[in-house]
Amino acid sequence: MITGKRITQGLGKAAMEGAKGESTKTSKRKTSVTSKKEANVDHARIERAVREILIAVGEDPDREGLLETPARVARMYAEIFSGLHKDPSVHLKRVFTENYDEIVLVRDIEFHSMCEHHLLPFSGRAHVGYLPNGKVVGLSKLARVVDEVARRPQVQERMTETIANMVEQELGARGVVVLIESSHSCMSMRGIRKAGASCTTSAMRGIFRENLSSRAEILGLILNQKR
Ligand SMILES: [Zn+2]
Repeated sequence: MITGKRITQGLGKAAMEGAKGESTKTSKRKTSVTSKKEANVDHARIERAVREILIAVGEDPDREGLLETPARVARMYAEIFSGLHKDPSVHLKRVFTENYDEIVLVRDIEFHSMCEHHLLPFSGRAHVGYLPNGKVVGLSKLARVVDEVARRPQVQERMTETIANMVEQELGARGVVVLIESSHSCMSMRGIRKAGASCTTSAMRGIFRENLSSRAEILGLILNQKR
């Protein structure tokens, strides 16, 4: 029943460029605290807390290598949790009316998020597909939604559901699928220490939830075409 398809890969890369460029400009740090770029993030408070943690684990926060660490961590948290102060659904407001009524699938959207249980990173790739109901969005917008939802303290299950619900609601899509594959640092560097274990979550909406052959088709498109 669903035959046509529009598949795109790797849109996450561009969305991540900004984050990479950031790390090169650490040198031009000013005296102390608060470069008030993110009005909602209390840099000074993070700095105090990080200093406390360093003391608590037995470090000397005043030794040379750690002197600027609290401020650096504050800036980093402001960046990687910036999604807390954004509404990702705004990226789905600008839609185009199209007769296209086959699957739209963007695969391999790279993302980085933070496990809210351990504040350790988990990262991987998200695949987002939908069956339009007369409305489509720019493909890069799906990657933006993934990026902003990821930039919050997260659990992968909720992240998957949040993206699926947002696409379903904003686009009124006849079907939505979100599949996320990731690896969690909290599983590899602590606890059971299983490096290489991956975690897959999926959320289906509309026809992909109700119709088995539609679901099989979209999952096939996502999973079987891997390199
Ligand atoms: Zn964790």
